Amino acid sequence: MENIDVLITTPVNPYLEQELDKRFNLIRLWNYPQKQEFFKNHSDSIRGVVNNPWHPADREFIDSLPALEIVSSYSVGLDHVDLGYCKGKGVKVTNTPDVLTEDVADLAIGLMLTTLRGISECDRYVRSGLWKKGDFKLTTKFSGKKVGIIGLGRIGTAIAKRAEAFNCPISYYSRSEKPESNYKYFPSVVELASHCDILVVACPLTEQTRHIVNREVLDALGPKGFLINIGRGPHVDEPELVAALVEGRIAGAGLDVFENEPHVPEELFGLDNVVLLPHVGSGTVETRNAMADLVIGNLEAHFSKKPLLTPVV
Ligand code: NAP
Repeated sequence: MENIDVLITTPVNPYLEQELDKRFNLIRLWNYPQKQEFFKNHSDSIRGVVNNPWHPADREFIDSLPALEIVSSYSVGLDHVDLGYCKGKGVKVTNTPDVLTEDVADLAIGLMLTTLRGISECDRYVRSGLWKKGDFKLTTKFSGKKVGIIGLGRIGTAIAKRAEAFNCPISYYSRSEKPESNYKYFPSVVELASHCDILVVACPLTEQTRHIVNREVLDALGPKGFLINIGRGPHVDEPELVAALVEGRIAGAGLDVFENEPHVPEELFGLDNVVLLPHVGSGTVETRNAMADLVIGNLEAHFSKKPLLTPVV
């Protein structure tokens, strides 16, 4: 397979590059600042692409690679890939489900604890010497809080299991009810938000779920409610979230993702009831390497005409 040209769009993991280098003729897009020149010289030979949410595979990108056979995405979410267009063009698409579920669910629980108990703020309090002037303020208990999950899929279920260990009653909203789960189903996000203390976003980003958390949902969550987003930034109407936090219409938010990453609304920087993370849901060495193995396994399966490991298209 050393003769097969595979394009990687973004430097995300040295292990991924090292293992791709061993198997394919790996071309690093970031080594070519002149993109037009690059596509003129290489487009006819590239048969595989490795990309991620920071580099979309949209129509223009797919059209600029006429020999493309497969997009192997280094992510489970595929909102950055035009799946319909790939299907029409006969380009296969794979992702990295399951291997990142535990990490993202762990991080969601971490965000809940950090946001409700003010752990980041406590840390700043100690470092800045404020402790010498007095005790830290009282915070909000996490155990037993009602957790409402938007999207009871792999990650949503893993979050629910973890939250159950904290005696949190679980409810959810998904496209379909999951009677096997024993969790309470609400047929709308507004109803879910008005019946929980902590609303967690864990669904894929699609046209239907863009701004699924809007002003009405935030107001249903209310001044004692917390929002946790480990899905995608555009799930939340960000200006409405900023307004709700500034005006105290919700109690706080723990956010791993933002609408326009890596740009975060500056109004949030001054708020102590908000925890801001740089999209690190799956960001451990163990999980990112497992994702890399899946990306490579899918490419190897495709080019040796075997069934794909995790096909989407
Ligand atoms: P999954 O197993 O496919 O689960 C998705 C869930 O969302 C399903 O329960 C599905 O409901 C629900 N859903 C789909 N469309 C919906 C809609 N229109 N309205 C309400 N619910 C809807 O996916 P997953 O592996 O858990 O991953 C979920 C998402 O997490 C990914 O797509 C990605 O965007 C995000 N993620 C973020 C990070 C991070 O670093 N922060 C890392 C990994 C993943 P039905 O079962 O009823 O269809």
